[in-house]
Amino acid sequence: MKGKTIIALFLVLSFGVLIAEILYFPSPQTIISSGFGEFRPSSSGLMPHFHLGVDFPTYGREGVEIKAISDGYVYKIEIDEDSIYGYTVYLKNRDFISLYAHLSTFGERLKPIAESLKREFPNQRVEVTFPEGEIFVRAGEIVGYSGRTGDVLAPHCHLELRDLENKTALNPIPILNAERPDDLEVVIDEVRIDGEVYPATSGVIPFKSDIPKIEVSAYLTYGTTVINPYEVTMSIDGRQVYKIAFDSIKLSEFTEAYEVYGKGSTYRKYWFKMYSNEPLSVIKTNAWGDIPRLADRVTVEVTVKSFWDDVKKITFELVRR
Ligand SMILES: [Zn+2]
Repeated sequence: MKGKTIIALFLVLSFGVLIAEILYFPSPQTIISSGFGEFRPSSSGLMPHFHLGVDFPTYGREGVEIKAISDGYVYKIEIDEDSIYGYTVYLKNRDFISLYAHLSTFGERLKPIAESLKREFPNQRVEVTFPEGEIFVRAGEIVGYSGRTGDVLAPHCHLELRDLENKTALNPIPILNAERPDDLEVVIDEVRIDGEVYPATSGVIPFKSDIPKIEVSAYLTYGTTVINPYEVTMSIDGRQVYKIAFDSIKLSEFTEAYEVYGKGSTYRKYWFKMYSNEPLSVIKTNAWGDIPRLADRVTVEVTVKSFWDDVKKITFELVRR
């Protein structure tokens, strides 16, 4: 019995050490400034969409070293000043693809390639795919420098992780085991029922419809940063009816953000629709199909969580008038 315990402990410890050795943060500031799956309103001709990566700040500066988070090889580079991502490096790592966007320039080994392509194809979008194993990159090696190419307000590092088939974006926070900000707070500020807004502290909220359209405004905040929560769950009379969790998003769902976020959502305001007709990756539970008409009086509980398990709950009653 004692022997078994020791082996299990040893395995857990060695696993932990291995992961820590492989994964680096891409930039010196390791607390994220934008979350995975956040709402992005339409801008520069783009449809509203999901934010498919996380942003790491770079002291608001260009030219900060952006490093490979894990060993891999260069899979693709993109040179485009006007796209969403701007100058971008894609690495194929062991378990995922990592993408580093909005760079001002590329790392030393990629710079000559990028410069000759820019001379050859001036003012054009250039995308180059490299054969597997051609340009190997070590974890921690500089792949580029922070910038403001693409759709950005200020220089930062956009890190995106995708599955090896390049079909699904993965939340980097669990994979990088990113740090919890000390002053993190979960906030639920408002509830919207059939278009009418109520404070989250309302005890009783009236409704008239068969199935009320319930929306919840919630966010996480620390310092001046506001990001989206990791999970939003709703129970009615004790039964889980709806759950959103931002663990992964299919690239084909990029512009389906309006199925998750309601009217009035912005970069910093997230109205979570607790109903949708679309089976999206982030919608984990949707039991509305089994409920033809809501009872006249029900208790609704909404739970909002951060990735680090900070929790905020509200409860209110819906009463048919
Ligand atoms: Zn970003």
